[in-house]
Amino acid sequence: MKINEYQARDIFRSHGMPVPAGKVCTTADEVKAVAMEIGKPVVVKAQVHVGGRGKAGGVKIARTPEDAWEKGKEILGMDIKGLTVKKVLVAEAVEIESEAYIGVIVDRAAKGVTLMVSAAGGVDIEEVARETPEKIVKLTVDPLVGINMFQARQLAFAIYKDKKIAGQAAKVLLKLYEAFWANDCSLAEVNPLVVTPDQKVLAIDAKINIDDSGLYRHPELEELRDLDAEVSDEIEARKFGLSFVKLDGNVGCCVNGAGLAMATMDLVKKYGGDPANFLDIGGSSNPQKVVAAMRIITADPNVRAILFNIFGGITRCDDVANGIKAALAEFKPAVPITVRLTGTNEKEGRAILESIGITAKTSMVEAVRAAIDSAGVTVPSETLV
Ligand code: GDP
Ligand code: MN
Repeated sequence: MKINEYQARDIFRSHGMPVPAGKVCTTADEVKAVAMEIGKPVVVKAQVHVGGRGKAGGVKIARTPEDAWEKGKEILGMDIKGLTVKKVLVAEAVEIESEAYIGVIVDRAAKGVTLMVSAAGGVDIEEVARETPEKIVKLTVDPLVGINMFQARQLAFAIYKDKKIAGQAAKVLLKLYEAFWANDCSLAEVNPLVVTPDQKVLAIDAKINIDDSGLYRHPELEELRDLDAEVSDEIEARKFGLSFVKLDGNVGCCVNGAGLAMATMDLVKKYGGDPANFLDIGGSSNPQKVVAAMRIITADPNVRAILFNIFGGITRCDDVANGIKAALAEFKPAVPITVRLTGTNEKEGRAILESIGITAKTSMVEAVRAAIDSAGVTVPSETLV
């Protein structure tokens, strides 16, 4: 689960990190009132769950309360990467001497928790990782042991030469790790961590992703869920009990069971395609779930083909077939559909699909290859078996 910057700032602050105070506003008048209260230049920041708000014009400095009102007016209602800004954070603007990056992530490759720091802060860290990876310094800690002060200092000295500043940054790193750990985060980062002209280290942006599997331990975090700031297909999927993760490819996948869904994505890749999503419709799938799945998949403009891969165990093939039929009666997707159907009530399922002009396949490989073909993707010949 993603949360907003202002919520992540509150969490960081509660762990003792140096985060300038701010207030959330939903109208330009409120923005002006908060700016008057602060009595200094403020920064007005769009609160949506995407990065790069600065570049998109969603972060603006205002010198006066009137100026703050103007900036509030500009940013509220703005569209940033498909999300409408409904809230802004108004905080005291800080003067910046330098910007760095610090972050903590669950690092699957390293099988641990990795702290990352970079003196190249303020910019898109993925870009830094891609183009100048040597500018990122990493340290993987054993989650059972945790992080020590000397490790934090080592990292801090990788981004700051000055002893006093590095000392402050080391403490911030320890607290960031503590906040990450305490909230079952999958990611906690500050970009930028800044040094002010009076040599103070401050966290002026905050990002936290919480591991959904840990949410049951944090009812207080569940309350931070902000549906306005979330990507709508994921909200829709959760409502229908579908496990859905959007990806960048063009073959929409609808599968029953997480293991089969993973295997399907692997096969799509193997035969030269690119999955548009992970979607597990779960065990006992009623037709309504399939309709919801089709709606979510076809809402993605990248999708060029839909692949159903159903292995009927508890899931009944006829339920899924009825779902596909109901979905096609509701709306006609502009992309071809390939279905692989086998297992419980296969015969009934096939008959239902035949009645709407779809001949289901039995072989998974055959279905995957047909779906990729129908998406118009050229298949490199050496991958064919
Ligand atoms: P993001 O673009 O979504 O990551 O939003 P950030 O909160 O990181 O803001 C983007 C950029 O705006 C930062 O890297 C800073 O350069 C600048 N910025 C944000 N807050 C302030 C501030 O209080 N003072 C100044 N001078 N610049 C700021
Ligand atoms: Mn940032």
